[in-house]
Amino acid sequence: MNVNQPAPPGVPYGQPQPGYTGYQSSYGGQPGPVIPPSPYGAYNGPMPGYQQLPPPGVPRAPPSSGTPPASSTTRVPSGQSAYGQFGQGDVQNGPSSTVQMQRPMSQPFVPAPVAPPVNQPAAYQPYGPPPTSAQVTSQMAGMQISGPAAPPPSGLGYGPPPTSVASASGNFPGSSQYGSYPPNLAPPTSLAQAHPGAQTPQRSAPLQASNFPPPAAGASRPPSTAGPSMPGQSFGGPPVSQSNHASSPPPQAQPPMPGPPGPPPPMHSTQPGYQLQQNGSFGPARGPQPNYGGAFSGAPNFASQPGPPQAPPPKRLDPDSIPSPQLNELPPQQKTRHRIDPDAIPSPIQVIEDDRNNRGSEPFVTGARGQVPPLVTTNFVVKDQGNASPRYIRCTSYNIPCTSDMAKQAQVPLAAVIKPLARLPPEEAPPYVVDHGESGPVRCNRCKAYMCPFMQFIEGGRRFQCCFCSCVTEVPPQYFQHLDHTGKRVDFYDRPELSLGSYEFLATVDYCKNNKFPRPPAFIFMIDVSYNAIRSGLVKLLCEELKSLLDFLPREGGAEESAIRVGFVTYNKVLHFYNVKSSLAQPQMMVVSDVADMFVPLLDGFLVNVSESRTVINSLLDQIPEMFADTRETETVFAPVIQAGMEALKAAECPGKLFLFHTSLPIAEAPGKLKNRDDRKLLNTDKEKTLFQPQTGFYQSLAKECVTQGCCVDLFLFPNQYVDVATLGVVPHHTGGSIYKYACFQVESDQERFLSDLRRDVQKDVGFDAVMRVRTSTGIRATDFFGSFYMSNTTDVELAGLDGDKTVTVEFKHDDRLSEDSGALIQCALLYTSCAGQRRLRIHNLSLNCCTQLADLYRNCETDTLINYLAKFAYRGVLSSPVKAVRDALISQCAQILACYRKNCASPSSAGQLILPECMKLLPVYLNCVLKSNVLQPGAEVTTDDRAYVRQLVTSMDVAETNVFFYPRLLPLTKVPLESSAEPPAIRASEERLSKGDVYLLENGLSLFLWVGASVQQGVVQNLFSVPSFSQITSGLSVLPVLENPLSKRVRDLIDSFRAQRSRYMKLMVVKQEDKLEMLFKHFLVEDKSLSGGASYVDFLCHMHKEIRQLLS
Ligand SMILES: [Zn+2]
Repeated sequence: MNVNQPAPPGVPYGQPQPGYTGYQSSYGGQPGPVIPPSPYGAYNGPMPGYQQLPPPGVPRAPPSSGTPPASSTTRVPSGQSAYGQFGQGDVQNGPSSTVQMQRPMSQPFVPAPVAPPVNQPAAYQPYGPPPTSAQVTSQMAGMQISGPAAPPPSGLGYGPPPTSVASASGNFPGSSQYGSYPPNLAPPTSLAQAHPGAQTPQRSAPLQASNFPPPAAGASRPPSTAGPSMPGQSFGGPPVSQSNHASSPPPQAQPPMPGPPGPPPPMHSTQPGYQLQQNGSFGPARGPQPNYGGAFSGAPNFASQPGPPQAPPPKRLDPDSIPSPQLNELPPQQKTRHRIDPDAIPSPIQVIEDDRNNRGSEPFVTGARGQVPPLVTTNFVVKDQGNASPRYIRCTSYNIPCTSDMAKQAQVPLAAVIKPLARLPPEEAPPYVVDHGESGPVRCNRCKAYMCPFMQFIEGGRRFQCCFCSCVTEVPPQYFQHLDHTGKRVDFYDRPELSLGSYEFLATVDYCKNNKFPRPPAFIFMIDVSYNAIRSGLVKLLCEELKSLLDFLPREGGAEESAIRVGFVTYNKVLHFYNVKSSLAQPQMMVVSDVADMFVPLLDGFLVNVSESRTVINSLLDQIPEMFADTRETETVFAPVIQAGMEALKAAECPGKLFLFHTSLPIAEAPGKLKNRDDRKLLNTDKEKTLFQPQTGFYQSLAKECVTQGCCVDLFLFPNQYVDVATLGVVPHHTGGSIYKYACFQVESDQERFLSDLRRDVQKDVGFDAVMRVRTSTGIRATDFFGSFYMSNTTDVELAGLDGDKTVTVEFKHDDRLSEDSGALIQCALLYTSCAGQRRLRIHNLSLNCCTQLADLYRNCETDTLINYLAKFAYRGVLSSPVKAVRDALISQCAQILACYRKNCASPSSAGQLILPECMKLLPVYLNCVLKSNVLQPGAEVTTDDRAYVRQLVTSMDVAETNVFFYPRLLPLTKVPLESSAEPPAIRASEERLSKGDVYLLENGLSLFLWVGASVQQGVVQNLFSVPSFSQITSGLSVLPVLENPLSKRVRDLIDSFRAQRSRYMKLMVVKQEDKLEMLFKHFLVEDKSLSGGASYVDFLCHMHKEIRQLLS
């Protein structure tokens, strides 16, 4: 195939698109024009510019430089001028300094063995089966509260009656789909908004326990219950302040609390009337609550419950006297002796289930401003009616304070987690592609915002007023259309940019580098062939896989073949380039040993079309493992490899992606050479931050050059020891690439994981050479950005590559007063080159409400998104501040958020009561998970590289990913009837929820465990593991035997479904109760105390309560 062929257009707008009908019908209830059956037919017509699109492949001049907005050509130091010398010969070697080593391959050409096709379909399908869209239980239906803001009648109030909750837990609506796509989340608007007050009670009621002055202070208690923080005491409970390391006790926790609350009477589980509810967040409080009937302003209050007795001030608690958290050493019964009934505190499981039951059945229609979407853990269908789907944008709050003073008071960060190229489930149509012709997309003259549903047409349609800056712009003649009596253009429903929240524009040449349409991208595979890579079997495995994988490169629309060209480089201390031109009988190798001055020794024949050069490529892939089979070279270079790839793309004048497979710390003499600077002694010191910082600035400069070239780098690491991920990860991070790490890689045990990741990574659709700009309406503006990208100014997010898994998080700040009437608007525009080389603009619009009452803010928050933001904020913070300071700042901010609610939105009540806003009732538990994550509070087994790795991963995670990452999903496996196809109901991540007689699956998006209780039935053991007894189960097993029985099948199916939902393959680990590997598993039981000193949920909640009371007093 000809790489120069014109790229196929994107989604053909003329054709019926799946999902379109849905879109239409969703207008059903609306007044407005009747929708013609083939709505977008209109576009089909005369779209002059469209057909005339110059083919992307047109020959063009050399190296591109700057992107339109801001880009400077990065000159290549030396290599560049050298290009001239190499004609287009088949084989050229570099300038003098290089070793001329054009050596024909030794082996005769062997026709490529046809490897079994990769078992994915050509078009990569990230989604599992379509969600069985919500099944709503009847009782749930009954519960739904209609009006978003209407306070519920007092009786109704409280959401689900206990029964419904309990039973609901058995029903996972889209069971297997759990978080498969980023979607949803947000607390049921209806519920939440309806009774803000109503619900709080529930939570708080139980919490009152905590009011009760904490147990006798210094008294030794079961570790797991270190106890509610006591007023005035030095915070015994939460390890947050009490870990073993220096970072411990936050100083501010020390001062005695001014507040009155005395020591509590023992409260706990023994509370009369509290019924244990397995998953209930607040089992006990369910009864009628006299006081909370009131409207929202009168927030929940538990006045009806007797306040805590005022007891004498507690003794100071000596943190040292608190037993260290060795949960596993305790007899089970002791563990459960919490002072606060764990069933009485907000349960993530319950919140997730309630949302599924309440919101999973109805499509989420995006027509109205400021709607809080369902939670990410709920499966739902989105109908775009003018605002971007939550799959693309999720906000921390959908109702933002009108003034910056209010915002400061509340301390709720205003942020949007944006996933511009998010993949959609099959039932939702991808964005339509709009062509505004040669003049390009219609935009505001002043702020350059793109035409969108919020632009106001005036003067009979001749001009439009910008919804972002109010500037009035002439409508270009070819775009003119009359208005109907409501002032709406008569073609409103025919134009995606007028009626939808998300769509794409075809970009004109003005949006291209150097005013030339881009060429299709290239992929370059760069393989470490040093001793470690060869010995582990990696090189052989990889080469074998590539032979089949290359048939599955991303392609656009209905294209038969990918437009992407490929190239190959191997390296250790020197680089080997390969000429795989189709006319050659054998691949040819050129060695560049002058790594200090990298250049590409050949132009023609390096980047080739796979089908044209297949035999040569296969021959090369067969020969690489053999050529280096006897290598003794252990040293590697790294930066020169990236430079080489970037130079090759520059020479080919195309964007692209480098796939680097690397094994060791690059200690060979070369630019970017690193030394081993790992030092665990730095933990908990002010220098700990250096472990997260790159050890040299070299890689940042390199990243900048890569971004300028549109060169995205994906890094696959196979380290046997420290490789300095913090430094090696800099280029992937800044170029929008991904990092994968396989410590101590062994083919036998790790190949499935590596190959799955590789297949997915190579096949996934990527936008290249991208620039993202977020515009906002007057009053707020984007002030901060988090994610994997590069910024050379304060507004443009530059991404050499962006795939459908990556998010960019944007924080907003006020720069003026907002109005409740006009609300606030966000428009995210992503300019990118598609995998076929087409230049496009993807636009997402979202409208938010603005409020003058803080209560409205708290009613429209999304805790999962808030946690996503806070984690990213904290993970960036560790680059510049001591980890302890970062943790303290997080706690302090969340305490302020909750204290502000308590002060301004909840009705007056005893200071002893912890009252949480409904939408944020999980903030404490999730925050605690972030605080004790490996980055902020590492356990002894966590390496410096692990921390740097996770830090980078989290930076570009979406909300669904951070949700499960911080609070893992834990499912019991034998309690659900085998015939049921539903996913078993999840349970809370705590050891006391585990039964010795059951088997559990736990995942967090990166790790997957199967925990087997010590007294599990023999039949279960036999059916799952094919061994007669528990003792014969192999601990650490990573593959379950394939057995023909319902239980085995069910468990394997569940594992498959978990894996299908995640962007990275999760390797299974079987863990037996009381086996030494159990320690690894327990790390994920995040409601418990962690071995690294992380607080239990109960303790942390008490600590938060204390912090809040301090703020209020
Ligand atoms: Zn404007």
